[in-house]
Amino acid sequence: MPNVTAAEIAAAIRNVPDFPKPGIQFKDITPVLADARLFAGSIDLLTQNFAPGSVDAVVGIDARGFIFAAAAATKLKAGFVPVRKKGKLPFQTIEQEYALEYGNATVAMHIDALKPGARVLLIDDLLATGGTSAAAVALMQKLGAKILATNFLIELKFLNGRDKLKDHPVRSIVVY
Ligand code: AMP
Repeated sequence: MPNVTAAEIAAAIRNVPDFPKPGIQFKDITPVLADARLFAGSIDLLTQNFAPGSVDAVVGIDARGFIFAAAAATKLKAGFVPVRKKGKLPFQTIEQEYALEYGNATVAMHIDALKPGARVLLIDDLLATGGTSAAAVALMQKLGAKILATNFLIELKFLNGRDKLKDHPVRSIVVY
């Protein structure tokens, strides 16, 4: 059982108004990372429905998602697989484009990153509109992975990101 509550994590998340642009309330998770108990507790909460050995790989999204997904992977005795912004991965990739508020973005994964049927858990720091994580899910599906769940430390519920992920369980720890 995690010895940290979601309320304690919520209290440590710093809200930074108007970053990176006017109107955005940026949820800064660095105070959670810097606190040993809260960081470990956040990983406990993000992995609590899974036993070590029941997950083959934890997929993390560039860049803050890597921190939580990599720590979760070691705890679950699973591999770690990065989803990166286009152009960053060195080997052959598969890519998925998705819509941003203005324009488009593309995420990529190595073509051999997940074996067909691999049991995978997607972890990211924050679910906003769901565009990024839905694109990551699409990549995981293209490789034939079995998606167990999509877990987030933070969910901005008013942006309805869950609606884009409804084919799989969505869990979040701190909800705004
Ligand atoms: P989205 O594709 O809209 O769900 O956006 C999710 C991604 O954008 C996550 O990887 C977050 O790291 C980042 N993000 C979006 N909104 C915020 C916010 N208000 N504070 C911090 N990160 C955010």
